[in-house]
Amino acid sequence: MNYKFETIECNLCGSKDYEIISNKGKFDLPTRVVLCKNCGLAYLNPRWDRESYLNFYKNDYDKYYRPAIHSKKISVSEKENPIIVRLRQYNLLTEKTNTILDIGSGEGQNLMDLKSNLPNSTLFAIEPSAISQEHLITNKIVVISKDIDSDWDKNYIKKFDLIIMRHVLEHFMDPIQVMKKVKNVLSISGIAYIAVPNNLKPSQSLEKSWFRNVHTYYFNKYSLKNLMKISGFEVMELVEGDEFNRSEVYLIVKASTTKVQPTFSNIHFQKQEEVYKKKLIKDKNTINKGILYSKKGLLKLLSLIKK
Ligand SMILES: [Zn+2]
Repeated sequence: MNYKFETIECNLCGSKDYEIISNKGKFDLPTRVVLCKNCGLAYLNPRWDRESYLNFYKNDYDKYYRPAIHSKKISVSEKENPIIVRLRQYNLLTEKTNTILDIGSGEGQNLMDLKSNLPNSTLFAIEPSAISQEHLITNKIVVISKDIDSDWDKNYIKKFDLIIMRHVLEHFMDPIQVMKKVKNVLSISGIAYIAVPNNLKPSQSLEKSWFRNVHTYYFNKYSLKNLMKISGFEVMELVEGDEFNRSEVYLIVKASTTKVQPTFSNIHFQKQEEVYKKKLIKDKNTINKGILYSKKGLLKLLSLIKK
């Protein structure tokens, strides 16, 4: 199909002033990462439009990013699920956690793991992938929407005790609008768990893997805190890396009772820019070393053949 592009402003501060960080990304799919000079949020610009992304998620996402989907019956993970361990350490998984929504659930592994800890809970999901939806239905998980940008929240006001958003916020077209909907559907004492790649600690080659066309946003602790303030949340916990994942940042948030203004600072831009520039140089040196070693290996092989 033909994908269409759109140009956007910074989702957090509305600025159009940015620096181009890279024109390359995973699978050589179109990826231009820019960094907002006003607030330091990194994002794709231009990017595919909404319809192009919906089509990609519905038909092609699993082929590229979830090649392992095959069985329809999902069993509980054998390893400890980081979401459960992290929530438990703050005593945030209790018998009061009755209704759980996973946004971008994939085939439902996290929900099934949570259910094994909270047998009385009811499970809900928002998931665009057609294959994953089949898995969810087979596992008796209620799919309330396939499109995060629809008005799904209207039918679930104050419904959920726990909302999981594991590595999905960075995929959205409009994170602020999504978080406002999340606020609408959280129960009075409800919490949301959010985990995203930490752009102050990128672990993979930026242009071969870390930057990717499906990651429309590239968050760090500064941009996440501002996003939460703008969309009406109070940050209960924010952790940059633990034994499960050193390059991830996770947050636990609840609805805020007071309105707090975001802090847009050029220092946030500078800190993110420095991390990216250093990493791009390091990635380049790693590739050069790889070429050097393979040349050396070839010469050695030739000398052995000659003998
Ligand atoms: Zn900005």
